[in-house]
Amino acid sequence: MAKKKSNEGNGNDSGMTCSFCGTTPGYHDILVPSPTGNAYICNNCVNQIEEILKGYFEEHPELKAEASRGKKSSPEKHKLPTPLEIREFLDQYVIGQDDAKKYLSVAVYNHYKRLDQPQDDVDIEKSNIIMVGPTGTGKTLLAKTIARQLDVPFAIVDATVLTEAGYVGEDIESLLVRLLQAADYDVPRAERGIVFIDEIDKIARKGDNPSITRDVSGEGVQQGLLKLLEGSIVNVPPQGGRKHPEQKMIPVDTKNILFICGGAFDGIERKIAHRLNTHVVGFTGRDQRSKIDSDNYLKYIAPQDLKSFGLIPEIIGRLPVLVHLDPLDRDALLKVLSEPKNAITRQYEKLFAMDGVKLTFTPETLEFIVDKAIEYKLGARGLRTIVETIMVDPMFEVPSLKVKEFTVTREYAEEKLRKAYIG
Ligand code: ADP
Repeated sequence: MAKKKSNEGNGNDSGMTCSFCGTTPGYHDILVPSPTGNAYICNNCVNQIEEILKGYFEEHPELKAEASRGKKSSPEKHKLPTPLEIREFLDQYVIGQDDAKKYLSVAVYNHYKRLDQPQDDVDIEKSNIIMVGPTGTGKTLLAKTIARQLDVPFAIVDATVLTEAGYVGEDIESLLVRLLQAADYDVPRAERGIVFIDEIDKIARKGDNPSITRDVSGEGVQQGLLKLLEGSIVNVPPQGGRKHPEQKMIPVDTKNILFICGGAFDGIERKIAHRLNTHVVGFTGRDQRSKIDSDNYLKYIAPQDLKSFGLIPEIIGRLPVLVHLDPLDRDALLKVLSEPKNAITRQYEKLFAMDGVKLTFTPETLEFIVDKAIEYKLGARGLRTIVETIMVDPMFEVPSLKVKEFTVTREYAEEKLRKAYIG
């Protein structure tokens, strides 16, 4: 590398000109010789070319993906967290859902391990997961929290946007676009990532009998999804959206991608109850039936219930880890309000603290908020709406009042809700 520095704008005729831009040393600091030694490029030209390439790669992610193919993916830098550590991390953000946390921790831990498994006769297969639970019980939150802890590319996608090729909507392959983006188009890294597919129940076929009540689009999407879950090379449109004939596809192998699916499966309790009630008929039927917790049928969920709901058996077979999420009762909702690291009330406290104001919610206020969420059947999702409604006025007024403290009492909260539509 030739390094020349001159204070003059030009006039150095030592012959060290940049073969690209033709400038002489006053205009550049460094000249890099070509491998043959008969041409030079200056640092300014190198910088410019880097910018041009960056822009070009942004427009053509498939080229970036292609370039990543050749290089070996760098091993994940962090230490492999144990299932207990993953679970402890989840505990900081998610209330309850002990079963789901345990299964997820083990599945994620095994996912890391199998990525580095020695190549021999025993091939550890991945255990894709399906989470079943009412909306607003923490399925997405669990997935997001895992993403926070992991150093593998992670994407959340919604099954409802998927359609079979040829219909309006997105093709199945587009599921992988997000993952590629999360991996910055490093294909080998994306191929070790995790995808959370939300609302998987929305692609169920309506009815258990495929020959009579066939819901073509739902089943077609499931068939498409099956290919991804099974592990195959999928051609992904680099920018997502509809396929364009001229678009160059990025081949992605899904063999090592962990899929976590989630869905509310509204009404599946009836199918579980039906199965339990028909199964327990017999000599011991009466006793067993009395032990069944009829308030929470979900905890007895089994693969055949997913089939009754309309998932095809092949898909169910590819989602061997089946976990349920419990509905959140009053106690759990109270905890959701203030205990998680990212709890709603903590977020407001932080907002106020940034204005130098100490915000407090009295315990009676928290109870009142939870009662309203239950009364209006809003569940955990409603907590934020209610708190938001109560807090609009104080957020508007407090920054211009010269106060150091602000306490939200139950009376205050009641009044704000009464004035708003919720009241
Ligand atoms: P879903 O099960 O429908 O995916 P989400 O995970 O999106 O539900 O939950 C909606 C919101 O409700 C979350 O952002 C979170 O604030 C709150 N929430 C729901 N369940 C829990 C939980 N178990 N622990 C803490 N917060 C929760």
